[in-house]
Amino acid sequence: MKLKDKDLEFLGELGAGNGGTVSKVRHIPTGIIMARKNIMVSAERQLKSELKILHIVRSDYIVSSYGAFSHEGAISVCLEYMDLGSLDNIYHKKGPIPEVTTVKIAVHVLRGLLYLSEKSILHRDIKPSNILVNSKGQVKITDFGVSKQVLDTIARTFTGTQGYLAPERITSENSYSVTSDVWALGLSLIEISTGKNVYPLLSLFEMMTYVQESEPPSLPPGKFTPMFEDLVSKCVIKDPTKRFSPEDLLRHPYCMDVIADGISLIEWAESLKD
Ligand code: ADP
Ligand code: MG
Repeated sequence: MKLKDKDLEFLGELGAGNGGTVSKVRHIPTGIIMARKNIMVSAERQLKSELKILHIVRSDYIVSSYGAFSHEGAISVCLEYMDLGSLDNIYHKKGPIPEVTTVKIAVHVLRGLLYLSEKSILHRDIKPSNILVNSKGQVKITDFGVSKQVLDTIARTFTGTQGYLAPERITSENSYSVTSDVWALGLSLIEISTGKNVYPLLSLFEMMTYVQESEPPSLPPGKFTPMFEDLVSKCVIKDPTKRFSPEDLLRHPYCMDVIADGISLIEWAESLKD
């Protein structure tokens, strides 16, 4: 689709991150509602590889892209609009997400990560604000924020959102693998089911030391089923070679159970609308 600024009608702000702002827009020629992400040009190099990735990615578990264009020194990427927003918005508004719903969400994200790993793509910025929901009950990941090229810059250790960095990303720059995305998923599952960020008040330095030296994060005792505690613990094994892969996790008994019962999130999505 050939997109241009004058064809996009602004409908409202959706949010803002370090990269820029996201707004809800209508593509006037087609009437399609999109999420327009504006990115400052300093991130252009990163963006180019992100766009290349978006181009080849097509999955029910990944937010799709309509295309991109540059406008007044910024770049706009038009993404599939996810009308119920991100998981962080949802738990901030509605409180912690119930355990079984969280496991269904995990299955969606794991299928997305498995799809990406089959295409040799790492996500590198899994966190609740990059997991989006729509009123059809679909859950999709977005923002392949960080390309290989960006990792070559000085900022390499700090390119993911800091609180979600796996221990091996802190100690060595080149050991990032799909299981680092799994670590970030584990932290995200703890966060959305407890309604609290796992490392809320630590500075970057404190957090880096803490992640390396302390026990891996875990769910508060007695509030969740042992199966869920076990599933989360398999995501946050500190040794990345022992940590479960998306494939391993999809074969975890809890995931197998919810998959057998059906992973539809339509009822939960309905409950979020009001
Ligand atoms: P971050 O992910 O760090 O919060 P972003 O700039 O990527 O920053 O996104 C800002 C916010 O915009 C997100 O938290 C999310 O709530 C919203 N958002 C992003 N993409 C979409 C989309 N495709 N549909 C609906 N909302 C979106
Ligand atoms: Mg984002």
